[in-house]
Amino acid sequence: MQVRKDWPQAALPANPALGVMQKSKCSKCGAKAVIFRDYEGVALCRGHFLRSIEKRVKKVVRKHGMIEPGDRIGVALSGGKDSAVALHLMNMIVGNRPDVSIIAISINEGIRGSRDLALKKSVELCKKLDIEQHTFSYKEEFGKSLDEKVKEMGLGKDDVCGLCGVSRRWILNKKARELKVTKLCFGMNLDDEAESIMMNYVRGDIPRACRLGPVTKYSTKRKGGDMFIPRIKPLRWIPEKEVGLYARLAGLPFRPKECKYRGGLRVDVEKALLDLEKKHVGLMFTVVNTFDRMLPGIKKTLDSKETAIKKCKICGEPGSHEVCKACELWR
Ligand code: SF4
Ligand code: ZN
Repeated sequence: MQVRKDWPQAALPANPALGVMQKSKCSKCGAKAVIFRDYEGVALCRGHFLRSIEKRVKKVVRKHGMIEPGDRIGVALSGGKDSAVALHLMNMIVGNRPDVSIIAISINEGIRGSRDLALKKSVELCKKLDIEQHTFSYKEEFGKSLDEKVKEMGLGKDDVCGLCGVSRRWILNKKARELKVTKLCFGMNLDDEAESIMMNYVRGDIPRACRLGPVTKYSTKRKGGDMFIPRIKPLRWIPEKEVGLYARLAGLPFRPKECKYRGGLRVDVEKALLDLEKKHVGLMFTVVNTFDRMLPGIKKTLDSKETAIKKCKICGEPGSHEVCKACELWR
C-alpha cells in the first residue's frame, strides 16, 4: 500500500493484505500500536498517535491563519469529545501566548438526561485547563427548553436537529459578539465536515455550502458582515474516531453518549459515508479536499449575487430575511 506523508487527496482501495503484525506495532518505534491508520498505511503507539494529532492540528491552524495577534478565541464547548479536544488543543497551541486569549462558551439546550452530564463534563474540563467558561441556555434566551419546544411543536426525531442547530448558532454568535470574541472555534471533525458538504449537496443548498470551510468569514465590506463572528475549525482534517481516541488517551473529561434527538438527513448521510469509507479508504478526505478546491469558484459566483445582510426586526441579529430563523421558530 502506498504510504502517505500527508493526508490523502484521493481515496485509496482498502488493502486486506497488510499483516496483523504490521498493524499491531507502531511503525515509528515498534511499541504496541493503539491505532492503524489505513489511509496512511501506518500503525501508531499512544505517544506517536497523540503527537501526530497535535502536529496536524498545529499545521492546520498555521496554514489557514486561524489565529491572529490580539485574538480572543471562544471555543463552543458542548461537553462531547470533539469540542473537548478542540479546547484542549487550542489551549496547547496558543495558551501561553500573551497576545491571544481563550474562553469556552457552552449552551444548555434543555435536553433532559443526555445533555446534563455533557455540561458537567464541560465544567470539569474548563476547571482542569483553567479556562473561563460562559454558559447560556435556550430557556433564558427563548423562554423554553428544547424538550418543551419539541413537545409543544410535536416535532418528530428527524426535525429536532434543524431547530436546535439554528438556535445554538444564534446564541453562540450573539454571545460571542457580546463577550468580544474575535473567532468562534468549533470542534467539527473530518466526518462532520464531509457530512455537511454532502448534506448541502443533496439539498441543493449552495449558499449554505459556501459557509463551510476551515475558516468562515463574512466580508466586513458587506453591510452587516461584521455582525457575524468568524468561525474556525481546527479539527477539520481529523477523522471522528481519531478525535474520540485522542480524547480518551489524553484523559479529557467528555460525555460519550449521543443526544437522544440526533436524527434526520445527517444520520443517513453519515451512514452512507461510513459505508463508502470502509470500502474506499480516504474517501472522506477526498470529499472535503475536492470541495475546498471548488469553493473559491462557487463563492465568486455567489458573491456577485449576494445582497446585504439584514438585521432581524425582532432581535436585531444578522440574517438573510426580515425576521431571522431563530425568531421565526421561537417567537
Ligand atoms: Fe441539538 Fe440535534 Fe445536537 Fe441534539 S443532536 S444537541 S438536538 S443539534
Ligand atoms: Zn431574530
